[in-house]
Amino acid sequence: MKKYPFLDLAATTAPIRDELVAAATSVIDSGVYIGGDQCAAFEKRLAELCGVPHCVSTSNGLDALRLIFKSLMALGKLRPGDCVMVPANTYIASFLAITDNDLVPVPVDVDPRTMNMDWDKALDAAEANAHIKALLVVHLYGRIAWNDRACRKLTENGVIIVEDNAQAIGAVTADGRMTGSLGHAAAFSFYPTKNIGALGDAGAVTTGDAELASMVRTMANYGADRRYHNIQCGANCRMDPIQAAMLNVKLNYIEQENDRRRRLARVYLDNIKNAAVDLPLPGEGDMVWHQFVIETPERDRFTAWLDANGVGWDIHYATPPHLQPCYRGLEHGTLKVTEQLAQRIVSLPIGASTTERDAMEISRIINDFK
Ligand SMILES: *Cc1c(COP(=O)(O)O)cnc(C)c1O
Repeated sequence: MKKYPFLDLAATTAPIRDELVAAATSVIDSGVYIGGDQCAAFEKRLAELCGVPHCVSTSNGLDALRLIFKSLMALGKLRPGDCVMVPANTYIASFLAITDNDLVPVPVDVDPRTMNMDWDKALDAAEANAHIKALLVVHLYGRIAWNDRACRKLTENGVIIVEDNAQAIGAVTADGRMTGSLGHAAAFSFYPTKNIGALGDAGAVTTGDAELASMVRTMANYGADRRYHNIQCGANCRMDPIQAAMLNVKLNYIEQENDRRRRLARVYLDNIKNAAVDLPLPGEGDMVWHQFVIETPERDRFTAWLDANGVGWDIHYATPPHLQPCYRGLEHGTLKVTEQLAQRIVSLPIGASTTERDAMEISRIINDFK
């Protein structure tokens, strides 16, 4: 048993157990098990949080991403075979949403400091390839991956920008804009380990585009714009009201949870002092530290040291999507930074079960690594 678990999900729910039980009970007693008030309330609140007019709740984050691309295609804004830029350092879901829609992912290498999209490389790629019609920007680790100058230029050239905001709910740019409101549309995941997690799978789409929001809602509901009237070959990708009820409770604590993560990150940043360990940048805008990712050239020895001292750890992600067996044969340029990061990164505990005192102790253990 680890003294400092990487993440203990039961510890995340325990402090609000009574509220969650009451919310679940109200759904059980309501007789409404698809859609209804809980889903509508959640959509309204998430839209308000992000400062966007529209939100559609979905079954999970991957479906949220898939629905955005599927809807853009149904609206004629993207066509099969169009290329979509995506950072090479991301979770596989970012790629799957693209390939699932017969679009072609163009992986772009990341900036070694932010571990997020390298904007110069994105601009170069867009210039070199006229088939690039969209960009999926991923705010990985809760760090805002947005560059106004580059995004303006891409938008002016007709590139549609979609945000994968699975890891950065509640993050605010330096000039006060929320992730989820920056691009044409954004996908959220409420997978249990995210900063705000359901007690199962859940996701959402936010957008300022009313037509897109309506198409996403249609696509997520069998392609029906009204009952038994199917204008699209859609799917069943709705959020369960019982998960919406859980999330309506959890949303009350988003600021508290993100602040807790910021304080833990601060403890690590201030206290880890070891030449064998590179710390992440302190943050651009108000990042929300979905993961606290350090780098070390001696990862095997380092993780063995963490194991020996009871410190949980994880790797996000050990194999980038373009090196996964399912993407054998995918064309891409050199992705050296991503591939090197994959060999060096380690995520430290930052979830609800970790206290500031734990983070102090973990820092001390890391400082003793030789
Ligand atoms: C979690 C995650 C997803 C997928 O969300 P699910 O709800 O698990 O389908 C997509 N992109 C990123 C970056 C994620 O971290």
